[in-house]
Amino acid sequence: MRIKPTRQQLLGLLPERLVLVRGPRAPGAPGALYLSFDDGPHPEHTPRLLDLLARHGARASFFLIGQRIEQHPALVERIVAEGHTLGNHSYSHPLFHRLSLREQLDEVERTDRLLAGFDRSGPHRFRPPRGVVSLPLLLAFARRGRNLAYWSYDSLDYQPHPPAELAARLQRRPPADGDVLLMHDDSDCAAQVLTRLLPAWCADGRSLRALPAVVA
Ligand SMILES: [Zn+2]
Repeated sequence: MRIKPTRQQLLGLLPERLVLVRGPRAPGAPGALYLSFDDGPHPEHTPRLLDLLARHGARASFFLIGQRIEQHPALVERIVAEGHTLGNHSYSHPLFHRLSLREQLDEVERTDRLLAGFDRSGPHRFRPPRGVVSLPLLLAFARRGRNLAYWSYDSLDYQPHPPAELAARLQRRPPADGDVLLMHDDSDCAAQVLTRLLPAWCADGRSLRALPAVVA
């Protein structure tokens, strides 16, 4: 029987400079965990999440949508001021497989320019909407020395599961050292899940980190 590898397993075979799936590990148990939030900033849910992260001294990476950056610039300033890192999640969150390569790169570059206005760095890691990546985009990123940022643990917070169920799943199968946890800040689900998990993770000594914004 042939077992089809997952997209994450295939992407994980590529050099980390091109595709990041896991973050740097921390020696010793229980290790580092990289929280990442897509689809913000959101005027209601992002501040709630930032309050929660601050209470626990946790850092995270926010993969922002350009249009929403333009709508809520003060929130982006707050994300940076509180020690989190910014990532690029396209300008309008389109379905990338329906765009030409030029249109895809326009989405990326337009959002890069916005992000640089907040943290003065770049080019930022790019997480494609719904994780859709084509070979031409991958090659264009390789040529430009740019980084695609994926995840190694999907919280499933965009599916209609009760937050308590998602939290229980994360407790049953805890993220490993260096895992990048995919979550979203355009609903209150992530905050509800993390309210249940952060106290225990912190008590266990987990290091909750942000991914470096740019590739060293
Ligand atoms: Zn998204």
